[in-house]
Amino acid sequence: MGLSIESDKCVLCGVEAEIRDHLFFDCDFVRELWGDILTLCDVTHRVSYGDRELAWIVHCFKGKSLLVRVIKLAWAGHAYDIWKERNSRLFGGKTRLVGNVLKDIKETIQIRLKGWTINNVDPRNDSLCVK
Ligand SMILES: [Zn+2]
Repeated sequence: MGLSIESDKCVLCGVEAEIRDHLFFDCDFVRELWGDILTLCDVTHRVSYGDRELAWIVHCFKGKSLLVRVIKLAWAGHAYDIWKERNSRLFGGKTRLVGNVLKDIKETIQIRLKGWTINNVDPRNDSLCVK
C-alpha cells in the first residue's frame, strides 16, 4: 500500500534530487526555459538560482505595462508547464524538449492576450505581440 518511489532524482534532468527549489528554479531544464521566455520578451538577464530569481522578478516587474502582464502570465505558465512536463515524464513516459514547452506557454499567453486592449504605438508592445 502507498506510493512506491524508486528514485528521488528530478525527472527533468536526472541529476539532482527533486525538491521544490530544484524543480522550479535550479534545474537546468527549468532555467533554460525561463531564460528563453525572458529572451522572447527582450529582457536581458542572467537567470539566477532559487529564491533569488523570484526576488528579482518581484522587484523588476511591477505595474501594469504589457511587459509586466506578459511576464506574470509567463511565470505562471512556466510553473504550470514544468509541473505538467514533470508529470508527463513520470506518469506518461513522454518527454518534450524545452522548445516544445516554450511553444505551449507562448500559445497560452497569446490566447490570454486576445481579449486585452494593447497600445501597439509603443514599439516594445508591438515587439512583444509579434513574438
Ligand atoms: Zn532537474
